[in-house]
Amino acid sequence: MREDIVKVVEILKKEVPEHPYKSKNPFHILIATIISQRTKDEVTYTVANRLFAKYPRPKDLKNADEEEIASLIYPAGFYRQKAKKIKEVARIIDEEYGGKVPDSIELLLKLPGVGRKTANIVLSRGYDKKVIAVDTHVHRIANRLGWVQTKTPEETEKALMKILPEKYWIEINTLLVMFGRTICRPVAPKCNICPIKEYCEFYKKEKM
Ligand code: SF4
Repeated sequence: MREDIVKVVEILKKEVPEHPYKSKNPFHILIATIISQRTKDEVTYTVANRLFAKYPRPKDLKNADEEEIASLIYPAGFYRQKAKKIKEVARIIDEEYGGKVPDSIELLLKLPGVGRKTANIVLSRGYDKKVIAVDTHVHRIANRLGWVQTKTPEETEKALMKILPEKYWIEINTLLVMFGRTICRPVAPKCNICPIKEYCEFYKKEKM
């Protein structure tokens, strides 16, 4: 099993396109992840860049007009609620953490609207911490492949930590996100052109 997982990850590293958002700035990663909820990627990255061009730091954003934040991140889904949340997150980071996004899961989870997935994305992409960020793509694909048999992303995170070599923990999120958007889509996965179908339990059961 572990050997097969390594083979699959190595194949995906060659075959899957790179994740388009390359910022290593923890504050930008945090805000972009909040914007990304229920929003298409193209929209997320466009509006996040527009927002950071004008308000790059927590102290800039906390003083920004909420209506203006909303219009800068439009047409992201729930842009009004997100504008409110973004302003509040910026205020807390500036006033309670001296402008630096905390690098611990406990403190990140205290921020409004920040769940485990978002916290782990910030920790892994922004701080190079060895954690596994499990979103809907990682959860679905790990189950389809047969790596885990889990019902929730939290269970998947724990299960993956037992079977996935630690050197892949940081990159597995972006790898499976891009694989999930291009091939192993939620509905109608493109199994016929999938480069890892021979390792996939779903494929063996449903397509052979
Ligand atoms: S064979 Fe199909 S279900 Fe399995 S990983 Fe590939 S695309 Fe996903």
